[in-house]
Amino acid sequence: MPLETKLTARLVEIFSAIQGEGLNVGTRQLFIRFALCDLRCKFCDSAHTWGVPSECRIERTPGQRDFETHPNPVSGNQLLEWVEWQNQPGLHDSLALTGGEPLLHAPFLVEFLPLLRQLTELPIYLETAGHRPEQLAMVLPFLDSVGMDIKLKSVSGEDTGQAHSEFLQLCHKSSVAVFVKVIVDRNTDPIELEQAAQLVAQVSPEIPLFLQPVTPLEESNQHLLVPSPEQVLAWQALMKRILASVRVIPQTHKMMGQL
Ligand code: SF4
Repeated sequence: MPLETKLTARLVEIFSAIQGEGLNVGTRQLFIRFALCDLRCKFCDSAHTWGVPSECRIERTPGQRDFETHPNPVSGNQLLEWVEWQNQPGLHDSLALTGGEPLLHAPFLVEFLPLLRQLTELPIYLETAGHRPEQLAMVLPFLDSVGMDIKLKSVSGEDTGQAHSEFLQLCHKSSVAVFVKVIVDRNTDPIELEQAAQLVAQVSPEIPLFLQPVTPLEESNQHLLVPSPEQVLAWQALMKRILASVRVIPQTHKMMGQL
């Protein structure tokens, strides 16, 4: 039976890259970047995803950045074809659903991900701001791993603590592997970091947490305030009193000059 869905997706791009963040750092992933985000984080390096572009861009050759453009929205069937086209044997370790906020597309994903599973045995990884537990519950059965942010109020301007807590509990109760990422800059308040660590520990102190200092390697990001080594050392020590695994990794894909 052919794989088919009638739903459409609003995409930014599909491309093959080395994951630069979190638990999967250094692995090769096929990224499906969805449009739209409902947060406005002050460190956002993907502001171009906040709306829906009239066209999305699709890499023709994995890793070559030889993009072709197609009008939005795109059909789920077309998206399956593009994934099949890019998915060269042995190249990718997993598929990454990213954004923007991919969970804003939960109804599409519920229909699309089972078809994706039939198409490829690659694990499916969700990269999310971690503030939409209802939508997570819809797609969780189709995921293998989740990398969720804990957005500090000083970063997003919103108090998403309760939503993060529900989100993390859902992940922890399921069979998916989950890790947490917290972005920090020179002005980060250690009290907020302690609260974030407590939030994770209340679900499980064994969940890995990644501190990600802002990484201003692009012209447009020169205003970002990189924390000092002393600050990062102190924050890691603070959080390690509460959690078993606290690692510090900047955005390594930017260091490599990758997308
Ligand atoms: S959740 Fe992600 S995409 Fe949305 S504003 Fe924050 S950093 Fe940007």
